Amino acid sequence: MTRLSGFAQTLKASDIAALLKLTEKPEVISFAGGLPAPELFPIEEMKSVDTAIYETEGSKAVQYGLTEGYGEFRKQLQKRMKDKFFVDCSTEDIVVTTGSQQALFILSQLLLDEGQTVLMESPSYMGAIMAFNPRWPKYTEVPTDEAGMIPEELDKILAADDSIRVIYVIPEFQNPTGITWSLERRKAFIEVINKYDVTVLEDNPYGEIRYDIERIPSLKSLDTQGKVVYMGSFSKIFLPGLRLGWIVANPQIIDKFVKFKQAVDLGTSTFGQRQAAYYCNMYDMEAHIRKITDLYRKRRDIMCASMAKYFPDSVTFTYPKGGLFTWVTLPEHVDATALMPKCLARNVAYVPGGIFYPNGGRRNHFRLNYSNMPEERIVEGVKRLGEVLHAALDA
Ligand code: PMP
Repeated sequence: MTRLSGFAQTLKASDIAALLKLTEKPEVISFAGGLPAPELFPIEEMKSVDTAIYETEGSKAVQYGLTEGYGEFRKQLQKRMKDKFFVDCSTEDIVVTTGSQQALFILSQLLLDEGQTVLMESPSYMGAIMAFNPRWPKYTEVPTDEAGMIPEELDKILAADDSIRVIYVIPEFQNPTGITWSLERRKAFIEVINKYDVTVLEDNPYGEIRYDIERIPSLKSLDTQGKVVYMGSFSKIFLPGLRLGWIVANPQIIDKFVKFKQAVDLGTSTFGQRQAAYYCNMYDMEAHIRKITDLYRKRRDIMCASMAKYFPDSVTFTYPKGGLFTWVTLPEHVDATALMPKCLARNVAYVPGGIFYPNGGRRNHFRLNYSNMPEERIVEGVKRLGEVLHAALDA
């Protein structure tokens, strides 16, 4: 047997992972993943993009590149930050990452010593917990309502614990709840964190998938002390398989981030970065995002209308104004993990909510994704879920 590190020994397949494996069967209507709709991937356009890259740049396009990222792509990202997220930054403030997942991993390595504390919304993105875990942090969940993290609670928690180094938040169309922070909350949040020596990780992969809400300034745009690191991603608006994300941060973090990233992968795919940059120059990215948004808005509406029709009255759900997920709340005594086998027997699946809480507990929730299923399957799947819920709750 291989002698593994202490951390490797903690990597175990959870019961939920085993259940989620079953959701991959084609007959299952799975609302479990977070996958974009593949029918909207611009495949024909990408063939022309690839040809244009080789014709323009030849072998340079597939040579090693700067760890910070491909210049033209960074320039586009700088403009994107200004146009979409109200952030005035220079290209030097940006590093391209291999998905925002890599940014989470590297930032946790830069900011956390073993046993220090990370604050999170409650619930929060499971993948962030996975990325932070190798630093053996403690997690404190900050009470969160439908307008975002509650600043008074945050202040109390920060005042009471000087081991807090990182606050990880998803203020737009959160994964898993779909909640978006109001502008007032964002301002109050910045006022609170400015009193403490902490770094905020603002994760925003869903910010451009907006249905019926005006743009709200990002936390990074409200940050006057360089305390916020912004993380963006092309996975939900373009092609997740290209693995393209980016960070915007203060010069000290950028410097260390680049040095650490050299150890991780030397740099993000030089060809992949060109694919995104050339696509943006050759085609209309904004029209592409509108197409995605229109489809997902329709699917959100169908899912929410179906839940209103088929779910028992005691079950509530969020009506997200953007993003890919809605969050369902069952009566407190009902365990969503325990109901999963019954759902799978009806060939329908969700992600039980417990895994989104870093300290466990709260099992009466589940997350539903609506971006990846055709409309008629959404209606049928929600109907089946409704039957399982009625059988469990009406008894
Ligand atoms: N953050 C959040 C909140 C996510 O939901 C995801 C993907 N599901 C990621 C980060 C990682 O995205 P990627 O690495 O594809 O950019």
